[in-house]
Amino acid sequence: MPLMIYDHGRRDEMKIALTFDDGPNPPRTDQIMQILESRGARGTFFVLGKWVERWPEAFMRILNGGHTEANHSHLHHAHQRDFDHAEAVLSNLTGRPTRHLRAHYFNYFTCLVSPLAMSDRIQVVDSDVNPADWDKTDPQDIIDGILGHPSLGPGSIIDLHDSSETEDDGLRLARPLPLVDAMPKIVDELQAQGYELVGLDDMTLVDPVVWQPDERGMYASPEIQAEIRSLGSASA
Ligand SMILES: [Zn+2]
Repeated sequence: MPLMIYDHGRRDEMKIALTFDDGPNPPRTDQIMQILESRGARGTFFVLGKWVERWPEAFMRILNGGHTEANHSHLHHAHQRDFDHAEAVLSNLTGRPTRHLRAHYFNYFTCLVSPLAMSDRIQVVDSDVNPADWDKTDPQDIIDGILGHPSLGPGSIIDLHDSSETEDDGLRLARPLPLVDAMPKIVDELQAQGYELVGLDDMTLVDPVVWQPDERGMYASPEIQAEIRSLGSASA
């Protein structure tokens, strides 16, 4: 069975999904949720299993806030079965299977070697609006990267980061600050345009693309690309 990847929902419904990768990351995740919840919006949090193990209460606050939890691997490494490891951690706390998965670094070779990712129990999710918020220091650049994005429209999935995979506490706390500052404007503007900001569990994903290996490593560093190549040849 080929690997199917979803990057948007139905184009005839005024819904947009804000998605946040690499958490949970207290207190940044809580700050982002507070901005969403104060405006009647919901988000989707693609968490790392290792952070859920470190901050289980922060993870449970995502569920208790009515947001959608999703699988972004355990270690953010290209290990075999890293998604399956994370799923065990998540579902042990939630008591239910996780329905969405996003490949770290959009490295889809890691999906090919994951029984979970290749199963029809979970949908592999990319995005059609990616403002590279993790690389921005000016909140306005993040706002402009979303609102001015040519793909922004009904059914859009926006890729953002409330955390980082790094063990460096200072960097992990500092990196999402421009996004936290940008969030009120992002939510207010999208809602003013008539969009409902929903979790992925409230969006019907359509028109998946069949992944082709030449798309590998879009956002990956040279080191990760080398890792991807070795993993790809090993699984070919
Ligand atoms: Zn990530």
